[in-house]
Amino acid sequence: MVNNAEVLNLMDYNKTVNLPKTKFDMRANLPKKEPDIIKRWEEENYYQQLRQTRKDAATFILHDGPPYANGNIHLGTALNKILKDIIVRYNNMQGYNCPYIPGWDTHGLPIEQQAIKSLGLNRHDVSVTEFRDKCKEYALKYMEIQREEFKRLGVWGRWEDPYLTLKPEYESAQIRLFGKMAEKGYIYKGLKPVYWCADCETALAEAEVEYADRKSHSIFVRFFIEDGKDLLQSGKDSVVIWTTTPWTLPANMAVSLNPDEKYALIRIDGKIHVLAEKLYASVLAEVGITDYQVEQIVAAQALAGITYRHPFLPRVAPIIFGEHVTMEQGSGCVHTAPGHGVEDFEVGKLYDLEVVSPITDRGVLTEEAGPYSGQFYAKANKLIVEGLADSGHLLYTSEIEHSYPHCWRCKKPILFRATEQWFASVEGFRQEALKAIESVRWIPGWGQERISNMVSGRNDWCISRQRTWGVPIPIFYCEKCNEPLITPATIDYVADIFHQEGSNAWFAKEAAELLPSGAVCGKCSHTVFRKETDIMDVWFDSGSSHAAVLEKDAELSFPADLYLEGSDQHRGWFQSSLLTSVATKGVAPYKAVLTHGYVVDGDGRKMSKSLGNVIAPQEVIKDNGADILRLWVAASDFKSDIRASKAILQQTAEVYRKIRNTMRFLMANCADFDPAVDRVSYEDMSEIDQWALDCLDQFLNEVTKAYHDYEFHSFYQSIRKFCIVDMSSTYLDIIKERLYVEATAGKLRRSSQTVLHDILNCLVRVIAPVLVFTAEESWSYLAETDRGEASVHLAKWPEATSDWSNPSLRERWSKLLVCRDEVTKVMEHYRQEKIIGNSLEANLTIMADAVLGEFLRSFPDLRELMIVSKVEIIPYAAAVAGFEYAENLKEFAVKVDKMGGGKCPRCWVWSLEQGTHPEHPELCPRCTEVVLAMPVIADEA
Ligand SMILES: [Zn+2]
Ligand SMILES: [Zn+2]
Ligand SMILES: [Zn+2]
Repeated sequence: MVNNAEVLNLMDYNKTVNLPKTKFDMRANLPKKEPDIIKRWEEENYYQQLRQTRKDAATFILHDGPPYANGNIHLGTALNKILKDIIVRYNNMQGYNCPYIPGWDTHGLPIEQQAIKSLGLNRHDVSVTEFRDKCKEYALKYMEIQREEFKRLGVWGRWEDPYLTLKPEYESAQIRLFGKMAEKGYIYKGLKPVYWCADCETALAEAEVEYADRKSHSIFVRFFIEDGKDLLQSGKDSVVIWTTTPWTLPANMAVSLNPDEKYALIRIDGKIHVLAEKLYASVLAEVGITDYQVEQIVAAQALAGITYRHPFLPRVAPIIFGEHVTMEQGSGCVHTAPGHGVEDFEVGKLYDLEVVSPITDRGVLTEEAGPYSGQFYAKANKLIVEGLADSGHLLYTSEIEHSYPHCWRCKKPILFRATEQWFASVEGFRQEALKAIESVRWIPGWGQERISNMVSGRNDWCISRQRTWGVPIPIFYCEKCNEPLITPATIDYVADIFHQEGSNAWFAKEAAELLPSGAVCGKCSHTVFRKETDIMDVWFDSGSSHAAVLEKDAELSFPADLYLEGSDQHRGWFQSSLLTSVATKGVAPYKAVLTHGYVVDGDGRKMSKSLGNVIAPQEVIKDNGADILRLWVAASDFKSDIRASKAILQQTAEVYRKIRNTMRFLMANCADFDPAVDRVSYEDMSEIDQWALDCLDQFLNEVTKAYHDYEFHSFYQSIRKFCIVDMSSTYLDIIKERLYVEATAGKLRRSSQTVLHDILNCLVRVIAPVLVFTAEESWSYLAETDRGEASVHLAKWPEATSDWSNPSLRERWSKLLVCRDEVTKVMEHYRQEKIIGNSLEANLTIMADAVLGEFLRSFPDLRELMIVSKVEIIPYAAAVAGFEYAENLKEFAVKVDKMGGGKCPRCWVWSLEQGTHPEHPELCPRCTEVVLAMPVIADEA
């Protein structure tokens, strides 16, 4: 990089030299400049202009996954939006019509809770519609906050008209989508164990469950035999079950054995205990029983038909068989409660077991729980264990720590509870969904297996929620026979009303007002109905966006080219969108899905307030500017976890400074260059300039590929190498002499300027998708003729000229640069020893073999390339005193002497031939010639 002190000194000598000047400061001052640039973008409506100019072009549709309108944005949200913006901008520059319609997810429990909390509302004191209005107010407030934060990141989009899941047209489209699924028979009501949060009083979707370690009771319980079928004695022998949820024992309806395993009849204190053969040793060791005899080993089937007595309820229950019984832990005899677990429910269906779920919405045991009725389930755990001990059923109790499902919202442990819920039958279209997954390009590729496994393993989708802030489930019930009513006509009618009035209408109006005239019960022909009170799962809301947004918005189309979200969305939005799309249209809503990892700290730990390692995007913007944040995003290999820390951002800022300084050098040195007049044709250029164009060509190819393949970290590496290695320490370092010293309009200088001009025009465009502000600022300093567009973000992607690429020159120069590196190493050594200061003080002697010597002599400007005052090449000889022999280059040695003669004050090159002209006795011959030919320009001052 050019040393400014040097330049100034040089300029002071002779005011007639053109000062390289630019308003593009070294100091970026981004936090101050960026808001002004955003203001200009908005005032000039550049995003809308872009839409106008691209409106007839081929489209590229990136469909925005709606963030939840709750709270400020964090680094993860910022990363997601910046990645999208980079892709959108790149595609627009490539000439595509690539709109960006941001969206927000605005319904759901978290907003209800925040509305209750922050507004001090009591949900039961206000009407449903009033409460929903408050929720809406809250959601819109945060949508606006986030919108401003996203804009501050430099993200372009249709901010003034985003899509919101609470907009009437969205809700209406969602109702129609639901209706289509119902029409195809994919919606059903069923009693089923669902994840249930007793604290939030609602069912939870699989995506709303988080696993965390929790301490639980771990008990082994004897269930005494009722009918032992000649094998076991009634009232004396027992099967031993293991459970960590004693509160589910009131719902026990069977004990399941694995049909393919063997079971041991163990005698302890004269009584037989049934345990799996593979597990009895570990169980007895754990409970501390050493005195026992293995009486008999039997096949599981030998226990068929045996019954036992429930430990505290007046009930006799069977031993049954299920594949879900594993030999990994417990006793191999599994407590089976169809009302409290999916596997229990499934096996219960086969044996026609009753589904009992004796627990209320709030987690209190009901009368069906017998002696434990009225107890909160967590309390009941303790009481039941005590009761089992008193009645002689308890074999052993301890505590274990294990991974247990928790509510994502309130973080409390959840339960499985059978309730009446609405379901989408994934089973009904699972094969189609799996097929659709195969048709999608998943980036990175492992996403495909991940979502395939999730979809093949998942249960039917429980879509009802017992809350109020959401889209109502548009179903009516016959007041006489309770038969649900949902037909294309009722769906149409409700959807039309929602389109006009929004979904508050469901709560404001009577059932009769929401039904088309003449609606009758399909079962009993009754005509009076009541409304369903449940709302839809928020994942159904956002999962409907392909129908509500992609298909409906005039700027978009179905399917999208790309969905781009965090990898947790394989079980969230990617999946809910896929399911509703496949169910209604038979195809995936996207052609490609790109996922990014999570933001973690510099040591790879999760960011959390308690660890104090949270980096807020707002802080980074305030301290460094959004462009630094954006460059950090580009630098990260976002497909895995992304590290962020003060130190990492500092490194990013350092690279930014190098890019900026390169831009500044280019701009300063193009200041007096008019391409229309001064351009030098490729054939007439110096070799080094041709070489620089080849570098530019390669760089452009690399970064274009990086953007195209979503490999933004490759872009970062390329631009870093290009600015630091190819430009600063090589090309620009070498040509600065001719730029400052040679005749202003001389061919040498104009040749280099032509290249600088082309590099600048290319660079400003290729950084634009990432460094949106810096590119825009640079753009404003380009010559009018170069710009063409008012904003760089309206411009097209640069294209290489056919003559830029020059592979033979590339090879020749890579050979030269190896020699130059050796020379630089030696010079550095001499500089450290203070034998020379500036490299121009050096008189260089290179020893090389004949071929290499010949090669080096073929560069007429070798002195300049090495940045010395004199260079001489002599035949190679071994062990010559004063020479340093290269380690990495065969038969190559370098000697540096201090150059004699005098230093030309204009160009700093030392020479033995000063004083050739009486008016400029101190100048070297080259400078004398240049200065004499200069027109004299009056001093600016
Ligand atoms: Zn909860
Ligand atoms: Zn009826
Ligand atoms: Zn000179």
